[in-house]
Amino acid sequence: MICPKCKKNETSIVKTFYESLTNTVKRQRTCICGNIFVTYEIDKSELKSKSARILKSSHQLKKKRKPTTKEEWLDFKVFLYAFMRIKAIISSSVSAVDKFDKKFKAR
Ligand SMILES: [Zn+2]
Repeated sequence: MICPKCKKNETSIVKTFYESLTNTVKRQRTCICGNIFVTYEIDKSELKSKSARILKSSHQLKKKRKPTTKEEWLDFKVFLYAFMRIKAIISSSVSAVDKFDKKFKAR
């Protein structure tokens, strides 16, 4: 197998997995250049079938996509909520310490 990075044919198999969902064999390979990549072994008759489409879509799902404005806004709201909760915990513990001091140290 030729390395997709350096184009040399000096790769070796590290691990082999069987994926029952797509009836394919997945091999993790390594090259002398240090590149690690994955290859799939699929039955020829299944190349245009459902298995091939699942493989293609599962590969696309792993690609990182840009978050939408709505998702960024949601992240911000979650962050703000957490920030407000932490602030409330800190201010209530400070007032609890103050009350404790007034009650026991004043004597
Ligand atoms: Zn390589």
